[in-house]
Amino acid sequence: MKKLWSNEEIPILAYHRVVPDPCLKSQHEIWVDVKNFRRQMKLLAFRGFNTISLDMLAAAFKGIAQLPKKPIILTFDDGYQDNYLYAFPILKKYNFTATIFLVSGHIGDTNQWDKIPQEKPIKLLSAEEIKEMVEYGISFGAHTVSHPHLPQLTKEEASCEIVQSKKELEEIIGQKITSFCYPYGEFNQTVKRMVIEAGFECACACDTEQTNDIYELRRRLIFPRTNLFGFWRKIQKWYSRYKRYKLKKLVL
Ligand SMILES: [Zn+2]
Repeated sequence: MKKLWSNEEIPILAYHRVVPDPCLKSQHEIWVDVKNFRRQMKLLAFRGFNTISLDMLAAAFKGIAQLPKKPIILTFDDGYQDNYLYAFPILKKYNFTATIFLVSGHIGDTNQWDKIPQEKPIKLLSAEEIKEMVEYGISFGAHTVSHPHLPQLTKEEASCEIVQSKKELEEIIGQKITSFCYPYGEFNQTVKRMVIEAGFECACACDTEQTNDIYELRRRLIFPRTNLFGFWRKIQKWYSRYKRYKLKKLVL
């Protein structure tokens, strides 16, 4: 049978924060300098990439939608306010779309789940900012209610985090929430089943062994130190194969 779809071949990039000022950077290496982000988006536009939504990917997976040429998916985890302040204007400039995964219990609040005592709490998106981005065409997905380590919770707790986050976000956004993202990229088969049963169409992980499982989408993380050449590598179809080869070489 002809292989129609491979998660390895459609780049899904994973960002968190986009920051303009060194003093806003954090010990958590989950930010990208706004200058680098601008260069990265410019490169995508220059190379003719088409940003697509996770919904479109899910529809293509089912065989009911055709993907455009050179598809790429941009994702942002946690819903930091800097996504609205600094990434959103750049996305608009290039007519790009993206998916932002929100922690539904902390809308308009700060990063309670991983704050560093000596650092200022980091602001998260407000409901108004989210609505403005929805109007433009940014998609939002669920990233639980409180950003826990899902596999460490009881079944009841995990189920509540997954189901409740979908419900709360649908109330704010007024649209169906169809994509999910596992906090810290952590999941097991029980957690994955809960995500499917909650009615999500797809779920993002980080590194996974699966190549065609819509509930274990492999993503390519963009780090503060990812330079433009590193970024160029991460948007290639062959990047996952290259990474596997490199890892194998390191192990041997
Ligand atoms: Zn997260």
